[in-house]
Amino acid sequence: MTGKAQTVLGLVDPATLGQTLMHEHLIWDATPPARRDVSTTGGPDPCEYWKFMTGGIADARNTTQRDRGLAAREAARMVEAGGGTIVELTIGGLVPDPEGLVEVSRESGAHIVMGCGHYVDDYQDPNNNKRTIESFAQEMIDQVQLCAWGTQVRAGIIGEIGCQWPWTDLEKRVLAAAVIAQQETGAALTIHPARHADHPWMLVEFLQEYGADLSRTIIDHIDRTIFDDDRLFRLADSGVVLEWDLFGQENTYYAAADIDMPNDGMRIRTIRRLIDRGHLGQIVISHDIWEKIRLAEFGGHGYTHIQKKVLPHMGKRGYSEDEINAIMIDNPRRLLTFV
Ligand SMILES: [Zn+2]
Repeated sequence: MTGKAQTVLGLVDPATLGQTLMHEHLIWDATPPARRDVSTTGGPDPCEYWKFMTGGIADARNTTQRDRGLAAREAARMVEAGGGTIVELTIGGLVPDPEGLVEVSRESGAHIVMGCGHYVDDYQDPNNNKRTIESFAQEMIDQVQLCAWGTQVRAGIIGEIGCQWPWTDLEKRVLAAAVIAQQETGAALTIHPARHADHPWMLVEFLQEYGADLSRTIIDHIDRTIFDDDRLFRLADSGVVLEWDLFGQENTYYAAADIDMPNDGMRIRTIRRLIDRGHLGQIVISHDIWEKIRLAEFGGHGYTHIQKKVLPHMGKRGYSEDEINAIMIDNPRRLLTFV
């Protein structure tokens, strides 16, 4: 596998990946497990877009997406807009559909790189509480090297490994296992940090202790987690990769935590400060779509927003073509290539 990337259709030459969205969901169930018995037929009403986006409504019509055809149509729009690859991080707890992703990739022409491992504690199978680091590690290694979730499909990246606040023992075991899987498979590791500004640094210390390769480890959701340059620069100096993956969320009111969510313009300015400090090789971006209301067919921005709006805006704000290519092509390619 060394020197190759692994999509749901098999190993590929990383040079063919093209512009890559590093953190998305195409087929998922982000409805909390206790509320999944609710009927999920139909989608959210686009007339209620604002309520959905500001947390006024939260239900399975919006947070459960099992329609392979819809996913394929949305992914095809991204290919049409110039995108090449979607990294799909629906893993244990979010109800992955690997065979669905194979169909979506074939129908849309998008490369899809699938994640593996387990999401946050509250979403995990209660039986996981009894499992050891070794058991989780072997499962992730197998998901990359053999097959995932009872299918023939293999993962191409480890994560998004979930952490909540307070960080639980189960989550620490899964992350320790993910580091072993990173070392064993040569895949990159991507981590959903807890919603607390100090947690990314706790992750760095944990990862260093367990011997992770920080240059091949991504801390996700920086947009909703870090709000000051001291913490940001300290993280960047550790060598870890930083991901702004909530592009397209243009309003202050984030339902999942008491923060001021930045908009795209603020994301672009923050990333600029990091580039000016020499961290261009450590930055990736995405939309992290896990609500149907953000899909194009429900009136949302879809998976084309970065290609259509964000990259041109970066150009207007002084980003060079080389810098944009580093963020969209070179950095993802390096991360998705097995070492
Ligand atoms: Zn996440």
